[in-house]
This record gives sequence, C-alpha cells and structure tokens, in this order.
Amino acid sequence: MRPLSQPSGAADGLAREARRAMGDRFGGAIVGPAHADYDTARRVWNGMIDRYPALIVRCAETADVAAAVRFAVDRGLPVAVRGGGHNVAGNATCDNGLVIDLSPMKRITVDREARIARAEPGLTWREFDAAAAQAGLATTGGLVSSTGIAGFTLGGGIGWLMRRYGLTCDNLLSAELVTVDGEPVTASERTNADLFWGLRGGGGNFGIVTEFSYRLHPVTSVFGGLVLHEASRAAEVLAFFRGFVAAAPDKLTALAAFLTAPPAPFVPAELQGKPAVALVVCYAGDLAEGEQIVAPLRRFGPPRADVIGPLPYPALQQMFDASAPAGLRNYWKSGYLRALDDGALETIVAHATQAPSPLTQVHVHQMGGAVGRVAPDATAFVHRRAPFVLNIVGTWAEPAADDANLMWVRDFWSAIEPATEGVYVNFLGEEGEERVRAAYSPGVYERLVALKDRYDSGNVLRFNQNVRPSRGAAPSA
Ligand SMILES: Cc1cc2nc3c(=O)[nH]c(=O)nc-3n(C[C@H](O)[C@H](O)[C@H](O)COP(=O)(O)OP(=O)(O)OC[C@H]3O[C@@H](n4cnc5c(N)ncnc54)[C@H](O)[C@@H]3O)c2cc1C
Repeated sequence: MRPLSQPSGAADGLAREARRAMGDRFGGAIVGPAHADYDTARRVWNGMIDRYPALIVRCAETADVAAAVRFAVDRGLPVAVRGGGHNVAGNATCDNGLVIDLSPMKRITVDREARIARAEPGLTWREFDAAAAQAGLATTGGLVSSTGIAGFTLGGGIGWLMRRYGLTCDNLLSAELVTVDGEPVTASERTNADLFWGLRGGGGNFGIVTEFSYRLHPVTSVFGGLVLHEASRAAEVLAFFRGFVAAAPDKLTALAAFLTAPPAPFVPAELQGKPAVALVVCYAGDLAEGEQIVAPLRRFGPPRADVIGPLPYPALQQMFDASAPAGLRNYWKSGYLRALDDGALETIVAHATQAPSPLTQVHVHQMGGAVGRVAPDATAFVHRRAPFVLNIVGTWAEPAADDANLMWVRDFWSAIEPATEGVYVNFLGEEGEERVRAAYSPGVYERLVALKDRYDSGNVLRFNQNVRPSRGAAPSA
C-alpha cells in the first residue's frame, strides 16, 4: 500500500526538481511515481517487498551517481542503492527515499594477461561470468546467476570456487566509490586501506561502489553437478555428506540441498515433483582428478539421478537459476552451524522434509578451504572458521500461504538456532540490530562503526544491514 506520507503529486514535483537539479549532463533516467516504469522499477527480487520510493534515479555512469546522491542529501532524503536487487531483505528499494539504481551500469573489461576484471555494479553474475569465460577466467560468484555482483561482493560472496580461491571479497583488488558527499574515493590495500577492509563484508554502508576490480583465475570447465536422493533417505544422505566433505580437498566445494525434484529428463518420473535431497559439487581443478574425488559421492546410495560430469563453469553457475525466479514470496533464516553433529543433522532433517511449499529449499553450504585461511579480522567478513552455513530458503507463490510458510521457517529456526553461531550478512532478512551485529565480532563491529562515522555519519545509506553511526541516526526513514 502506498505510504500516506507520500502523495503522488508532490513526488512527481520531486522528479521535476531532480531533472532540473541534475542538469543536462545527467545521462540516466529519473523515474517518479507517475512514470510508466515506476511500478516495475520499485520491485525487487523478493516478491514480499512492496515499497514506494519517492524517486528512482537510474544511473548510467559515475557522474550520475554523484549527482543523485548530492540531490538526495540536499533534500534530506535517505538513499537506497540497487545493484542486482536480489537481497532478500529488500534493501535495494525503500519507502519515501531516493533509490540510486545502478542496474544500467554494466561495463566490464577483462585483462587476460593480468587476470583482472574491472566491472560496474549493475552486472549480474551471468553477465560477469560470460565476459570472464571468454578469456578462460573466473572468480568466485553466486550459485544463482541472476544475482547482482555488487551487494554480493560487499557482503562476502559464497560460491562454487570459494574453497579454492576464497570468497568473492577475497578476490576484490580495489573499488571505486562515490561517498555521500558526492566525492569519488578509491579503496584498495594501498589507498584508504581501512575503507577497503570494511567494504569486504561490511556491505553498502560506506559509499556507493561504481566499479569493482577483481582478481581472476584460470577456470574453464569444472567437474560438477548434482546427485539426487529421495527425501526419505535424507538422514543417511546428510551423514554421508558430512563425512565426504570432511575429507575433501580445497578444490572441491559442496552443498547439500533439500528441494523438490524438478520435472527434468534426468529425474526418474516417479521422483519428479517429490521432496528430494541433492548433493551438489564443484571440483575446480584437473577433470580426471575431480572424477576420482567425486566418485564415492556418485556411488553412495546409489542416487536416483546423477548429472555430474565435466561442464563449463558458467553452466554450473546457472544450474539453480530456474529454481529462483524473481517475484516469488521469500522469507529466509540463516546461521553458521558450529558443527553438523547428530543433533543438528536430526533437527535439519526433521524440519527440512516438512516444508509446506514445494518451492522452498534448505541449503547446507560447506565452508572452509581458502575461506578459512584468511585471518578473521583481515576483512570485515569474520566468520572464517565456520564449517557450514545453513540457509532456510522459505519460498512460495501465494500471499494466502504466508502464515503457514512464515510459521514453518520460524519453527525450524527456533529449533536449529542453538546449534548456530553468527550469520552471513547477505542471507539476513530484516531482523534487527542484534542480528546485524551477529554478522561480525564485537571488535570488527566497532571498527565498522568508526568507518561509518567517517564516511556516513548522517546514516544517509541506511537501507542495508545497517551499521549505525555512533551518534545514532535513525535506522529507517
Ligand atoms: C536466489 C539467490 C541466490 C543467492 N545465492 C547466493 C550465493 O550463492 N552466495 C552468496 O554469497 N549470496 C547469495 N545470495 C545472497 C546475495 O549475496 C545477496 O542477496 C546480495 O545482496 C545480492 O546482491 P545484489 O547486488 O543483487 O543486491 P541488492 O539487493 O541490489 O543490494 C543488496 C545490498 O547491497 C547494497 N548495494 C548494492 N549495490 C551497491 C553498490 N554498488 N554500492 C554500495 N552498496 C550497494 C544495497 O544497498 C543493499 O543494501 C543469493 C540471493 C538470492 C536471492
């Protein structure tokens, strides 16, 4: 429902004012409530989010971002920043503030020799991977290729290549930002190193990133894919997964996923549409070696379906895309598991196999490897030693099913929460300050507050997993 504080006539006046203030050199588009695109532009990936910004400014280049943020600050408007718009909390949009929409900014250049990509924040992983793959290169990216690179990188970046090459933020070499004063700033190990530290896990709290520079690695094909088991065998499958990943080399990253077996040709007809457990793997190394390493996982059970083999890395990145379309209703709860011990395993199986919606998934991500070899305070992504991340991905289509699904996610979460410690900031919903703090250690959170004081003491950038400045600007508009 449109907020009462925002009559549409006044907001259209704001669009005219913005057009005047930003002048002829503004290369983007200004979308106010009367604009034909407003209703599409205010939407994000999570269909439960229904917010009405005062204005959406679609930026084509860095100068547009600077003009937009200056305009917002002059008018006292809080700013939401949109990269890929995938965040489950819906922080890429807002009520009554100004959205700086970076999705038109999609330039990418790949330096094959130096193995570096310079990428603008409107890119999705599908677009990034396609450009990098042309040079036979890649860096750690998301499990669903429509996810934006921007919010993903700033929160950390968990993906198929992480145990070999680190999180996405571990591969960040530098970032170009526009501050809330509209000024350009570079952050890298050599320039504004404290800001660079905070950008790697601290989210979009400190400025608006207009370009990321990433280290790339030689990755073309990987040995990967998934095996499927019926859900009735979930306990033994998960126990096998626990043992298998404990002995896995860093070149292997694995995930256990509770899902509904898709109506795909590789799935036996009697399993299609039924609850199932998938073990998904990516071996980023020699393909023959990968085949050997993965062989026990393909033998166990045996599985009801097996689509593991050599495949181009971008194909693995897109394997889950169909299961995560935009516009569905989503409510997630997530935390790092201290261990996948028998108690946690039983709780996960008991709840995950009872999801009320066939669209829901439950993920147990294996962590470790290169992720765990970085010191916990070397970046703002602190939970480096956690062995697994659990993500309860509640997804359904109809508003009438909200209560049943919310209740299931919450019941599951209250049963498993005692087995967790800390949370990955990019899997957080709108869960309050304590949960944001849980994404960090107390010392790291303090350092983030100091950075916030320095770069955004008025909390202009507050539609994020908000690190509040010490002089306590309001957390929401
Ligand atoms: C289907 C799905 C699959 C996912 N899979 C994974 C996964 O495999 N691994 C993983 O780690 N995460 C995953 N995520 C979580 C993902 O990392 C976050 O949703 C992330 O925020 C998405 O980035 P975005 O640019 O699309 O987000 P947006 O919603 O656009 O933005 C998210 C936050 O980042 C801020 N932000 C965005 N761009 C900028 C910028 N340029 N400068 C400053 N701040 C900015 C926004 O203000 C907002 O607070 C997944 C999410 C979904 C929905």
